Amino acid sequence: METAGHSRRTRGQARETHIDVLGDLEDKKKKIKKSDKQPSPCKQSIPEAAQEKEAAAGPDTHDSCGDCHKKVQPNHRAIKCDHCWLWHHTSCEKVSEEVYVFFSQHEDEESLHWFCKKCSILFKRIGSTVQRLEEAHRRLEEKVDSIADRLNNTTPTEVQEQITTVLSDKIREDKEEMEEQSRRKTSIIVHGLEESSAEEPSERLEDDSCQVATLLNELKCDNVNVDKLVRLGRKPEDTNSKPRPLKLVLQNEDQKTKLLKEAKNLKEKKEGGWDKVFMHQDLTPKQRELRKVAVAELKDRMARGERNLIIVNNKVITKRY
Ligand SMILES: [Zn+2]
Ligand SMILES: [Zn+2]
Repeated sequence: METAGHSRRTRGQARETHIDVLGDLEDKKKKIKKSDKQPSPCKQSIPEAAQEKEAAAGPDTHDSCGDCHKKVQPNHRAIKCDHCWLWHHTSCEKVSEEVYVFFSQHEDEESLHWFCKKCSILFKRIGSTVQRLEEAHRRLEEKVDSIADRLNNTTPTEVQEQITTVLSDKIREDKEEMEEQSRRKTSIIVHGLEESSAEEPSERLEDDSCQVATLLNELKCDNVNVDKLVRLGRKPEDTNSKPRPLKLVLQNEDQKTKLLKEAKNLKEKKEGGWDKVFMHQDLTPKQRELRKVAVAELKDRMARGERNLIIVNNKVITKRY
């Protein structure tokens, strides 16, 4: 059976035989009709069949040799390439007699293929390209595997540990800061109160207590209760040096707020030297740092002409009326 595109094709039958077959006109017509309907490039090379075919279809207009480009006549010895599907003279392709005969005897053998020189070179190139691609693919897979390994095993653990450390440090710091702020929330620091010259600490404490009582009285805060008072820092050797700040621990936050509010009047009280005394909240080092930054920003913005600026929670904001 003649199957389009599957049978191998060879040419090279004797011209005499070919002409002989042309005699049968009816057969010729039939073959032309069949050929027109099915323009199959496949033609049997078994001598008789091929002769009939060639006789019927006449010379194929696309039958130029892939090498010399001359028309491949039915009586030329030629073989069709299974890749480019071009005819090639056996002489142009240097196909041995043995090979030519073998292929012409096995036209319909699907496992047999013949390729022209050009196509063979192309296949070799494709082969080596595929090899290179496979090699590149293998290397890429190795890389991906090693990256995946690192992601699955090493990196996440390390990153996780780092994150955990940073987070727990931050949580611990925040907690300590909050505790520190909480401890200080009823405290006030007073500057400018003269230090006692007494030798005994108890006597000095007594002197400080008296001074604080006078101060509270001056500020009309007699109902403010001081639970504890302590001088901050080392006692200076020189009695003429600046007095150390005095920390007052009050009974509750309301009392602290009240005292800080009243203390704003101290700078007006020149009589008795109270204008040299000032007090502020007992801030943690962190709060002092934030406050310093906010104060610097406030000064800078005021220097540039902004007005009605106040610091609330260590942030500079514009006061609204
Ligand atoms: Zn040729
Ligand atoms: Zn070819």
